[in-house]
Amino acid sequence: NREFFVGGNFKMNGSKEKVSKIVSDLNKADLPSNVQVVLCPPFPYLAQVVAENKQATIKVGAQNCYVKESGAYTGEVSPKFLKDLGVDYVILGHSERRQIFKESDEFVAEKVKFALAEGLKVILCIGETIDEKKAGKTLAVCKRELQAVVEKVEDWSDIVVAYEPIWAIGTGLAATSDDAESIHEEIRSYLSTVIGKQASTVRILYGGSANGKNAPTFRGKDNVDGFLVGGASLKPEFADIIKSRE
Ligand code: 13P
Repeated sequence: NREFFVGGNFKMNGSKEKVSKIVSDLNKADLPSNVQVVLCPPFPYLAQVVAENKQATIKVGAQNCYVKESGAYTGEVSPKFLKDLGVDYVILGHSERRQIFKESDEFVAEKVKFALAEGLKVILCIGETIDEKKAGKTLAVCKRELQAVVEKVEDWSDIVVAYEPIWAIGTGLAATSDDAESIHEEIRSYLSTVIGKQASTVRILYGGSANGKNAPTFRGKDNVDGFLVGGASLKPEFADIIKSRE
């Protein structure tokens, strides 16, 4: 009963023209009615995607937001603005924000709490570096990142978790479906100890070099509830990922 979910994180890529092309190609595609798709273009193109999208199963998400409604926070974006534009989701805690922009677990958790309170749904990213993986700390890192949110948020019904091992992001080296299933299962089992029964309804996506070719290999993995796609979300194969469970 966890609807399959495919997010497209464009990251800092696109142009008016490129974004239009992606949306119009998806408008023409025959997409499954039982897969939730969320397109996350850069801020300047959010309104365009909301306006141009014609697919009922496609929603729009931002890649970040701030923890205040309005005020003297030059350069920041309020969840209120996103709601105002017709944006339903926001990606928070992406490893690029954690690493490049030094967002702490606590700050990410604050953002999750605020975005939810403002009525957005959250795609919460977690995942370990290659060094942490080699040191056997994968689950510990995921737990730590989740725990910060558990401390601030009780209701997880509007949170989708994206497990994105940093070593797999943009490298072409995706986790195998067996490895993903096993860590997703551990993540869910940890979640059940801290948020109880809700854990069975939280979707856990896999992210990191997911593409049209490898997506079908995740079929039948009970705890892989979809994908958060970077590079391939800018390409025609994104539609193949959306259809990979058919
Ligand atoms: P890639 O699919 O390009 O590896 O990126 C994954 C990601 O970071 C999605 O948020």
